[in-house]
Amino acid sequence: MNNPPVPSASAPAAQLFPQHIIAAKRDARSLSRGEITAFVRGATDGSWADYQLSAMLMAICIRGMDTDETASLTEAMMRSGVIADLSAVRAPKVDKHSTGGVGDKVSIHLAPMVAACGLAVPMMSGRGLGHTGGTLDKLEAIPGFRTGLTLPEYRAQMEKLGIALIGQTAELAPADKKLYSLRDVTGTVESIPLITGSILSKKLAEGIDSLVLDVKFGAGAFMREKARARELAETMVAACARLGKPARALLTAMEQPLGRAVGNALEIAECLDCLRGRGPADLMEVTYALGENMLLLAGVARTAAGARARLENAIASGAALEKFRALVIAQGGDARVIDEPEKFLPQAKYRAAVVAGKGGCDDAPAPGSAGILPADGAKRRPEPAGKMPALPGAGAFLNAYVASVNALEIALAALRLGAGRVRAGDKIDHAVGIDHLVKIGERVAPGGTLAIVHASSEAALALACESVARAIAFSPAPVAPPPLLDEVIGAVDLTRPNST
Ligand code: URA
Repeated sequence: MNNPPVPSASAPAAQLFPQHIIAAKRDARSLSRGEITAFVRGATDGSWADYQLSAMLMAICIRGMDTDETASLTEAMMRSGVIADLSAVRAPKVDKHSTGGVGDKVSIHLAPMVAACGLAVPMMSGRGLGHTGGTLDKLEAIPGFRTGLTLPEYRAQMEKLGIALIGQTAELAPADKKLYSLRDVTGTVESIPLITGSILSKKLAEGIDSLVLDVKFGAGAFMREKARARELAETMVAACARLGKPARALLTAMEQPLGRAVGNALEIAECLDCLRGRGPADLMEVTYALGENMLLLAGVARTAAGARARLENAIASGAALEKFRALVIAQGGDARVIDEPEKFLPQAKYRAAVVAGKGGCDDAPAPGSAGILPADGAKRRPEPAGKMPALPGAGAFLNAYVASVNALEIALAALRLGAGRVRAGDKIDHAVGIDHLVKIGERVAPGGTLAIVHASSEAALALACESVARAIAFSPAPVAPPPLLDEVIGAVDLTRPNST
């Protein structure tokens, strides 16, 4: 077969042949904007075959992309569909994206907190797959809550309420849907430029002015190594800058689950606690850090302390909770959940407390465990929900300190309970999961609660209790809680108007 003539890099996209663009990247050449646009157009209109798209993805995965190429890829993917027109929304429009983690429910209470401070928060989120949960699944634990708004409905709600928490619509960044499905089966998910294009194209198509990113690293994160997480954060911030959208990225640790609850309805209940000023310290630390940066980026606060005060006031005044109530009502949810979550959120049939036994509280290190004692003495008490007995107080043993709570193990336990999906399209059980989870550094006496498991069957309950017990390790000596916030990447432009 004769190959077509090689076009110059500046040739219009329509004249660029897939095999030449693929070969250029294979040979580690920087691609032009036109070449990248041709590739993305080929993915969107079907003019490139799947084998050509896959070869191109692999070439990008192996050879990488520089900042200009990554920005061009992001822009072409963003422009592959509709870009939501939120020009009628007067407030600065700022969103937050997290690369996902175990118990990461931050969006659900952060969005109304920030919206209560006068910003517009157009937030499109995803569903959970594998060990990380999805904001949409959590929201759908609220009976009636509709995440599938149409674009006109989304725009109208943003104009009226300044907040929307919805799923991605088919019109936004359709190239990502095609490319992601091929990445998933060609071993090219890990590529930083491809991740950047995928995440940012969807976020920028929402119609935002600026973006705060939470890039997680550690056992329960999408990127386990901190260096890779930093590279992703830097790449995303740089691509946003090239596209004229101010962005900041926070690197945050994901060794243990965020907060004390993992599972959809249980996490909604925890978000309501946050909105009432009773959220777990680690969850609120990440929430405030992200919120402060959203206010700073939007130019409505000049200092982190000023931004923090406004966010705290949104909670103390009840404005954030009321914003959430308005959101739930606007999207068809049962707002009674807000005042009586235990009555109106789905409840699992069985509950059991995983409690520390002697193995978790003895002061003799287990052999080979370098002073860390496994929770091999953890016991469980299965009871039908609603009849769980009060746990006994501390016994006569020495106390132990929680040394680690393996986020991945906890996530897998929740997944096996039915809180998540193994394959896209699996049905999930909103009621099941784990809450009252201990945190690293906490002191536990024998008989003290390590977690409460919520399950739909006795068999699932037993398995999950064992997994949860295995996920927790103890130390006879005090353990300092690990730092959560590692680094902030990206500068804030304080010269913009509207600062307080
Ligand atoms: N999330 C996305 O939306 N895309 C990726 O490529 C990875 C995580």
